[in-house]
Amino acid sequence: MENLLVMSYIFTFFLFIGSFLNVLGFRMLDGTSVWNPRHSHCPSCGTQLTWRDLIPVLSWLFLRGKCRNCHQPISWLYPLGELMTAVLLTFVVWHGGWTLETFVNLVLFVIVITGTITDLRAKLIPNALTFPGMAILLVLRLFVHPEPLWDYLLGFVVGGGVLTLLALIPNGMGGGDVKLFALLGLGLGWKLVLLALFFSCVWGTVVGLPLKVSGRLKARQAIPFGPFILLGTLTSWAYGERLWDLYRNLYL
Ligand SMILES: [Zn+2]
Repeated sequence: MENLLVMSYIFTFFLFIGSFLNVLGFRMLDGTSVWNPRHSHCPSCGTQLTWRDLIPVLSWLFLRGKCRNCHQPISWLYPLGELMTAVLLTFVVWHGGWTLETFVNLVLFVIVITGTITDLRAKLIPNALTFPGMAILLVLRLFVHPEPLWDYLLGFVVGGGVLTLLALIPNGMGGGDVKLFALLGLGLGWKLVLLALFFSCVWGTVVGLPLKVSGRLKARQAIPFGPFILLGTLTSWAYGERLWDLYRNLYL
């Protein structure tokens, strides 16, 4: 019960982190600084938002997805980004426990979530996210590495390398996806990054195929791969080791 209370505090805190990641993602896309201008504005009329407009999820629901001033619709990607962040990061803490490794994993997922937000918004995972993300994870991994350090460095090479090969296929992965997987290798190690790639494709098929078959998605319409990378990474991170062992026992 106490645990539930702590988790609900953490969840609320992560909702605000999600709100920040929305801003971070959108500002990375249009190249403006995250800190300046300090206050958020309505994208349509420029009205400065007050604290009442900035309560995660609730403000959007209360205003029925419209600006208080100009009544132009506000994207549902805002509350989605906040909820997604809170749910995933709370799961990471719940599943990983209070360890330094969990902190590193939170940083990793913050980066992937931000990439998912920009990918949903603009079908783009910007270098302004992936390059600093790689540097941060490399520094963290120098100090925190449950597996030997080379395991994560190899993950960087494997994640980036396999994806580079896939990117050469027409209609293959984009450059942002390649850099994101190199980064994921640094965070997950070589085994789990390969599984993350595998699960990303599985999720992409499970969700994307029905959309295509039902005609909701036109044949050549590309869907952003970011959300599936996020789901695949989460699946690999949480259950990869167990599935890897299961597979080995069955077939090797
Ligand atoms: Zn407005």
